[in-house]
Amino acid sequence: QKESRVVLSARGLVKEFAGFTAVNDVNLDIHHGRIHALIGPNGAGKTTVFNLLTKFLQPTRGRIELLGSDITRTPPAKVARMGLVRSFQISAVFPNLTVRENVKIALQRPSGLARQFWLPLSSLDRLDARADALIDELGLAGWRDHRAADLSYGRKRVLEIATTLALEPKVLLLDEPMAGMGQEDVAMVADIIRNVATERAVLMVEHNLSVVANICHQVTVLQRGEILAEGDYATVSADPRVRTAYMGN
Ligand code: ADP
Repeated sequence: QKESRVVLSARGLVKEFAGFTAVNDVNLDIHHGRIHALIGPNGAGKTTVFNLLTKFLQPTRGRIELLGSDITRTPPAKVARMGLVRSFQISAVFPNLTVRENVKIALQRPSGLARQFWLPLSSLDRLDARADALIDELGLAGWRDHRAADLSYGRKRVLEIATTLALEPKVLLLDEPMAGMGQEDVAMVADIIRNVATERAVLMVEHNLSVVANICHQVTVLQRGEILAEGDYATVSADPRVRTAYMGN
């Protein structure tokens, strides 16, 4: 059925740095409509896995497929255009522009990988409707004409997510989207990610385990570059090996 469609998969992923194996034989399946968490102690290999999936790093071995296409050797800009986008790739939020202007600029960028202006803002009126739809989807309607600089920290992060969604990703990778936020912002961003994932797939690295418990459908626990456990949060958090890994950290 539609909800369980695999949109991103990795098989036998290995990354060696000068003889040190940072990622060892990792298999992942990311599903449309689901939020997948990548967790594990510091140094477990989470960032390296993100960099491998987005092609910022080339795997030593293994295979990555996006929407049925082999992207193992595809460069990052092309992978982004194919629908796999990482939030920081386009976290260029311009503080003196409004929320709507920021989203419109993101909408006319070809790949989102560079801070490029191809057209003056005044010529972007045709993008108003698409910009407003994204702004509404992300709960920013009340801030449409506010300068980005005047948003709360949490809403700035939401605006970054909005500019990322302008690239129409099928798979969105978020690296610690709640980092540095207070409880209220964490709850707001959690709701927004849940909403975003209904029409896309989300893979996120997240240290806040109550967020993982609340919004993530699938959890992969990494330790020393290998998958220690996988399943829903209840399953992995009950696993004695996972408990030991976290206590030892
Ligand atoms: P995490 O994101 O889970 O904290 P990382 O993916 O950043 O873990 O790192 C995994 C391991 O790989 C760590 O031991 C780290 O020191 C090592 N590592 C990461 N990048 C490099 C690199 N470019 N060169 C050598 N070792 C690296």
